[in-house]
Amino acid sequence: MSGKIWFVGAGPGDPDLITVKGRKLLEQAGAVLFAGSLVDQAATLYAPAGCEIRDSKDMTLEEMTDWLLAAAARHATVVRLQTGDPGLYGALIEMTRPLTAAGIAWAVVPGVSSAMASMAAAGETLTLPEVTQTVILTRVAGRTPMPPGEELEALAAHQTTLCIYLSITLLHKVQDALRAAGWAEDAPILVVQKASWPGEEKIVRGTLADIKQRCQAAKIGSQAMIVASPTLGAADWPDLIRSKLYDPAFAHRFRRASFSPELSPESSS
Ligand code: SAH
Repeated sequence: MSGKIWFVGAGPGDPDLITVKGRKLLEQAGAVLFAGSLVDQAATLYAPAGCEIRDSKDMTLEEMTDWLLAAAARHATVVRLQTGDPGLYGALIEMTRPLTAAGIAWAVVPGVSSAMASMAAAGETLTLPEVTQTVILTRVAGRTPMPPGEELEALAAHQTTLCIYLSITLLHKVQDALRAAGWAEDAPILVVQKASWPGEEKIVRGTLADIKQRCQAAKIGSQAMIVASPTLGAADWPDLIRSKLYDPAFAHRFRRASFSPELSPESSS
């Protein structure tokens, strides 16, 4: 027998934020290899009794591949459970290539990424009409260098929403890049640690000038999302340009039939 290996996005932490499909796969899994402490709750909540559950935290890529291949030889459904979405900073392709080479079937189930969960936690929006309609998901260089042209300073020059992963310990670099790109000292910055984790989520709001001190005061040093966006705080703005999505004139033209925002290119909010 040769089973199938599913790379499942567990979501940002709250076990309720896994997809229905991901949960169903866990419920029928013979073996689950999960990525670190961020997702063990979903694995242990939904996997059936007798399921082989293993944390990959101390394993090399080769050990993970061997483990998954051995599991697929014994079980029809094997789950590799990863935080957020498996395609974002998840080493997905490094893991799938040896499986393909070994002739093992695999597929990906997307997950709610921590950028979305962080904005949701803070009651903020990623896009806003005539403010920004673009979201950049990025990081600053750590041990992994940034490819040419993707330095944060260059990306920040667009003045769009920036969701910055894996960079909370390099917050000073984020500040430097935003300053170099012309962001004002009072530009709002949001940091969310453990977004969606019941009882553990921390939301810190500050400005480009003071966000580092505020994070230090809140003792945030890991597992945090940094968001710089011209949309932050919009809930309290006195003036807001209306989205065409709920504009009565727009509704008159399009909403009467079957209203489906995704199908109309003009209707994004
Ligand atoms: N695939 C994941 C990202 C993995 S990289 C996703 O789609 O979310 C790990 C980084 O993600 C962390 O350094 C942090 O920046 C972010 N992160 C993961 N979970 C988070 C959470 N619950 N709250 C805030 N940031 C989180």
